[in-house]
Amino acid sequence: MTDDLLARHRAVLPSWMPLYYAEPIELVSGSGRRVTDAQGRSYLDFFGGVLTNMIGYDIPEIREAVERQLATGIVHTSTLYLIRQQVELAEKIAQRSGIPDARVFFTNSGTEANEAALLVATNHRRSHQVLAVRNSYHGRSYAAMGVTGNRNWSASALNPLQVAWLHSGDRVRGLLARLSAEEQVDAAVEDLREVLATQTAGDVAALIAEPIQGVGGFVHPPDGLFAGWKKVLDEHGILFIADEVQTGWGRTGEHFWGYQAHGVTPDLLTFAKGIGNGFALAGVVGRAEVLESVPAISFSTFGGNPISTAAGNAVLDYLIAHDLQANAARVGAILADGLRSAVGGLDCVAEVRGKGLMLGVEFVRPGGSEPDPALTNRVFEAARDGGLLTGKGGLHGNVLRMGPPLTLTEEEAREGLGILVDAIRSAAGVAA
Ligand code: PMP
Repeated sequence: MTDDLLARHRAVLPSWMPLYYAEPIELVSGSGRRVTDAQGRSYLDFFGGVLTNMIGYDIPEIREAVERQLATGIVHTSTLYLIRQQVELAEKIAQRSGIPDARVFFTNSGTEANEAALLVATNHRRSHQVLAVRNSYHGRSYAAMGVTGNRNWSASALNPLQVAWLHSGDRVRGLLARLSAEEQVDAAVEDLREVLATQTAGDVAALIAEPIQGVGGFVHPPDGLFAGWKKVLDEHGILFIADEVQTGWGRTGEHFWGYQAHGVTPDLLTFAKGIGNGFALAGVVGRAEVLESVPAISFSTFGGNPISTAAGNAVLDYLIAHDLQANAARVGAILADGLRSAVGGLDCVAEVRGKGLMLGVEFVRPGGSEPDPALTNRVFEAARDGGLLTGKGGLHGNVLRMGPPLTLTEEEAREGLGILVDAIRSAAGVAA
């Protein structure tokens, strides 16, 4: 029973590991875009376990690929031996990455992928100075926390890197919020020049940035901002690391990678979450000249193991065969338009934002920009009561996040939209 499990969880797992919902959920089965809890309640899943279930649940092609590997008797031996699926997946990712002469290093988590990217960049540039973005999230190792611009998620003051911070492109509050999109790009580029001149001692290694901030509440800079930044970075030989952990694989609908909205090519790209559809699979892609810049042996016992790369190959093949990027654009537009017309005008909604199937609703105190995390939480709980799983995020915990599997159908989008709109209206005390 969940109650008993909750008590046991609390007794043995650390309290700094967050659990969603006043009454936490134990999910025991899933199919398509639906999951079932231990009490037999079914939910439509608009979060995919933080964008981790990218294709959905119980997908035969993925299950069969993993079962074929299990049937060989080898779950994993060591990455010291050749692994066919690892090479195949690396070839596919390198070819789709948009990065010329790409190499791929597999890890088990997004944190490790960013750690590897930062290791490579700092070695390549022989500098530990890095630029990062306010309100970002990049993981929980020292270096990844060090470039995470949100103190809620940075558990240590010890930072192996010297970091200078850039604006996030937040349109609701802060400096850029008061400007038009074009002015925002100019202001943020000017800010980058000023940060370089005033807060760094030259020889900066890299900028790490999420094309759309995930944990930060789906905040995204105006399209083209990275292009403006990249021009300045290129003047100084500074590398650009795109953290595509949440934005990759077509989720944003308009592009396969989030960085493509800006018309730039990163030197390094990190991925995780969705590509394993639940299996631990992550990595970093980079130009050979840059990715080879590791001065000692670096090795991962489980990174790129046959089970997770079998899953990864099946996920990528499925994604492309079914053109899920196009589905994300089409179904995401239904959701975004529906949300904008039903609740976008409420005075407690600051913004409905995002792209494709990566959508957020930011809640504020009526009429202003003061965050309203209590209202966000009421919406979040009401949606669950209505049978819909969503996420929460943002520096102030006032953004409801939707990142459903990319296989979401139009009917499911409309069903979830109805639950969401009811949840928002009832939590905000607005008549239907
Ligand atoms: N980068 C981004 C953008 C993320 O959203 C996350 C996870 N929320 C990470 C890195 C870290 O990934 P992991 O939890 O797999 O270490």
